[in-house]
Amino acid sequence: MSERVTNWAGNIVFGAQRVHRPGSVAELQEVVARAATARVLGSGHSFNRMADTAGDLISLAGLPRITEISPDRRTVRVDGGIRYGDLVPHLDAAGVALHNLASLPHISVAGAVTTATHGSGERNGNLATAVAAIELIRADGEPVVLRRGEPGFAGAVVGLGALGVVTALTLDLVPAFEIRQYVYDDLTRDALTGNLPAILGAGYSVSLFTDWTGTTFNHAWVKRPDPMPEGPFFGARPADGPRHPVPGLPADNSTQQAGVPGPWHARLPHFRMEFTPSTGAELQSEWMVSRERALEAIDALAGVREKIAPVVQVNEIRTVAADDLWLSMNYRRESVGLHFTWIADTNAVLPAVAAVEEALALLDARPHWGKVYTMDAATVRGRYERFADFAELVAAYDPAGKFRNAWLDDLLGGGR
Ligand SMILES: Cc1cc2nc3c(=O)[nH]c(=O)nc-3n(C[C@H](O)[C@H](O)[C@H](O)COP(=O)(O)OP(=O)(O)OC[C@H]3O[C@@H](n4cnc5c(N)ncnc54)[C@H](O)[C@@H]3O)c2cc1C
Repeated sequence: MSERVTNWAGNIVFGAQRVHRPGSVAELQEVVARAATARVLGSGHSFNRMADTAGDLISLAGLPRITEISPDRRTVRVDGGIRYGDLVPHLDAAGVALHNLASLPHISVAGAVTTATHGSGERNGNLATAVAAIELIRADGEPVVLRRGEPGFAGAVVGLGALGVVTALTLDLVPAFEIRQYVYDDLTRDALTGNLPAILGAGYSVSLFTDWTGTTFNHAWVKRPDPMPEGPFFGARPADGPRHPVPGLPADNSTQQAGVPGPWHARLPHFRMEFTPSTGAELQSEWMVSRERALEAIDALAGVREKIAPVVQVNEIRTVAADDLWLSMNYRRESVGLHFTWIADTNAVLPAVAAVEEALALLDARPHWGKVYTMDAATVRGRYERFADFAELVAAYDPAGKFRNAWLDDLLGGGR
């Protein structure tokens, strides 16, 4: 291998023979056409081997940046290597916005979309739901454009990098908006009884955080356009200063709180672009379950908190709206996400991951594609009604398996 490349977390060293950074789409097409096996590396923020390859690893970071806002300001066309943090200033300057963002702006748009990355908000679809068109380079080096509503589109958007190289995406826009972020300390388990839908629906985006040292949630974060009423939030106290999602950590990298209004892109993520996001030394997992079973899921996690607490930095509960994208973790399901920021120790964390999956066994949980899970591939396949259609789409786009890797082979099952 020409150079040592790891993911952001450092738990994956990619096994590629060659690393390419094409400077144009034409150069990229040549790289793809020549490669026997290839994968694209986005910003490397996934925690498993989904981006790995034994062949050619292709970074699109060197492609010319595209931020073409349509004349009616309803969509923006972006290149396949751009990060949200690079895109949002252009949108802001034009008075437009994306409907939501993940907890951090550092991730590439194409990498986030292909794993159905999401923020929070009961009416907010994941970031892939903003995609109106997708432009791909197929295994033979030929370009393809798929628009919303066309056959295969709903399978291609959350495509796990399996259909080809995403060179551009067109995303839906909304008018720019302001958001205020409020943080409350110590939301008790009892406060959730009968109130969980109201708590999770109290803002445009709501997250609950616990380190499972007890059953009380350390923080509730509420992001909304209008001011919150003064005083406690379902018994939780307004925070007396800025907070980091991980209890006790300094809040320097967190976005502005205390209800100060600010632009959407400076409040919806928890973390600021100019700092290392989250803790910087971590692994992550997340499972999606049906929102109507949210309390059952939280209590199932409480039942294994002795296994979780020693290796978790924080567990975040958030919501995502249902969609129609075949491999979205939110496919036809109003969802609650159970996200874990673990310590950066795979061997210590894996037993806790397995304990969480066992606790959620009856809840039909769907693991986040880009994070750590131990669920076997057959079980994962069984959680997606359209999985067989997705496998057919992959075979049609990439018959020789150029974009396959060990992770995809395992997921798709049944050989090539
Ligand atoms: C600190 C931190 C916070 C996070 N917060 C959230 C969160 O709030 N919500 C959430 O849902 N997730 C979150 N994640 C997970 C992260 O959003 C996903 O793993 C996402 O896929 C990362 O995007 P990336 O560009 O780094 O993709 P990578 O990890 O580089 O790649 C992911 C997959 O996309 C493929 N890919 C990337 N670009 C292309 C392309 N142009 N064409 C074809 N395939 C491509 C890769 O081959 C790979 O299979 C977080 C991760 C970190 C490290």
